[in-house]
Amino acid sequence: MILQRRAQRTGIFACLGCLYLLAISGCSKSEESAALEKRPYNVLLVTLDTFRADRMSCYGYSRNTTPNFDRLANESVRFDFAISQAGVTPVSHASILTGLNPYQHGLRVLYAPSGCTLPDTIPTLATVLGEFGLQTAAFLSSFTVSEFYGLDRGFQLFDAGLERSANSQLSETKSGFWGWNIQSAQRRSDVTTTRAIAWLRSVKSPFFAWVHYWDPHDQMVVPPQYVLGQFQPDQPTREGRLEALYDAEVSYVDQQFGLLIDTLKSTGRYENTVIVVVADHGEGLSQGLQDHGWWRHRLLYQEQLHVPLIVHLPGQKAGRVCDELVRTIDVFPTVLEALGIEAPQSVEGLSLAGLMSGKAELRRLAYADQLNLYDLTAKMIEQRPKDDLMYCMMDRTWKLIYRQLRPGESELYNLGDDPRETTNLFQSQPLKAKPFLEELRKRQCFVDKPFGTTDGDSEALDRLKSLGYVGD
Ligand SMILES: [Zn+2]
Repeated sequence: MILQRRAQRTGIFACLGCLYLLAISGCSKSEESAALEKRPYNVLLVTLDTFRADRMSCYGYSRNTTPNFDRLANESVRFDFAISQAGVTPVSHASILTGLNPYQHGLRVLYAPSGCTLPDTIPTLATVLGEFGLQTAAFLSSFTVSEFYGLDRGFQLFDAGLERSANSQLSETKSGFWGWNIQSAQRRSDVTTTRAIAWLRSVKSPFFAWVHYWDPHDQMVVPPQYVLGQFQPDQPTREGRLEALYDAEVSYVDQQFGLLIDTLKSTGRYENTVIVVVADHGEGLSQGLQDHGWWRHRLLYQEQLHVPLIVHLPGQKAGRVCDELVRTIDVFPTVLEALGIEAPQSVEGLSLAGLMSGKAELRRLAYADQLNLYDLTAKMIEQRPKDDLMYCMMDRTWKLIYRQLRPGESELYNLGDDPRETTNLFQSQPLKAKPFLEELRKRQCFVDKPFGTTDGDSEALDRLKSLGYVGD
């Protein structure tokens, strides 16, 4: 794959990145690297696991959960309608890191006998930025973004904090699904932050750092007591306590993020670092319980797919809000354009440079899927057997959730009138659903057999059959 520098400057990126771009047109890679060293632009990508935008104060939450993210948003573009491409961690992260939808990058489920690793041939932010001379490092907090999924490619330092050991390998559980020892395969945000800061203080520019925070995903990753004490339950119920814990976890991650930014500032890097904050998916919480009956993720409703996205460019001082539909696959080409690097042609994501500078653009479509049927960790399918193979296609107003095995039970929502997706219009508005369905077919996103269940993987197929999900 040949990657090239952009010869033309565009949008707000041009103003902020002109020193790069004037110098590099027609340069060799070594000359480009030299130019990069003169005026290095660093990249900090922070991915927030299981983070609902509406639980952050910069997105309007009534509790002051995220003063540090708020401060960054005040000097950045905050995207109010960002859509994730999957509701499960490795699949969504693969899309963020590659700019590809799941049907393109191929990492489509959390676990299958095969098909759960990013192929070696696909460029990622780390492989591309490393190729252009950036120091690359990842500081992660969970097994679900580890080397097990091939997400380590291109990183000179990949600090997942987890050994490739029995504790961080998926193994079969008594109930026939697959899981891992979650206590030893995850770590709290303060541990991850400490390691990231040590590296940031010592690394020479330019660098690319990916920091992944996990706390709100799991109720076992509990913040210190002083943080818990700031968030009392609204109601003395189990749900009330869990929601207060969720807020405390969001708040603690915010504190850790603040330490990262402090480090960038104290080491003189804040002014020349592209910073992207994005979540991999949301969480049902009580809204899900009321509307869709599901506390967690792995579904395709807005509480799972709508995520925070904040992009800060070097030198940006004023905040801006964009409420157009954008996707997490757009992060990859945006970062590359900020550094003057042409994205691979196969990338489906589109740079956000135009929208960030206030330009009107053709409206985007967002894709997402959830292949719970073929995910051997998807225990939730026992409770929600109809949520087996689901595909979403949406624009800023209309949203289709297509159910491959039971098309008549697909869902269509008018998000303009019904943002919480309470009234299914699939039967009454077939003409609205039709173009989305055609778009799904055109993309060839449908899966018709379990991943890796060839002759050599009959055990997995037997397991799916025993669960009643495959075969006659
Ligand atoms: Zn996740």
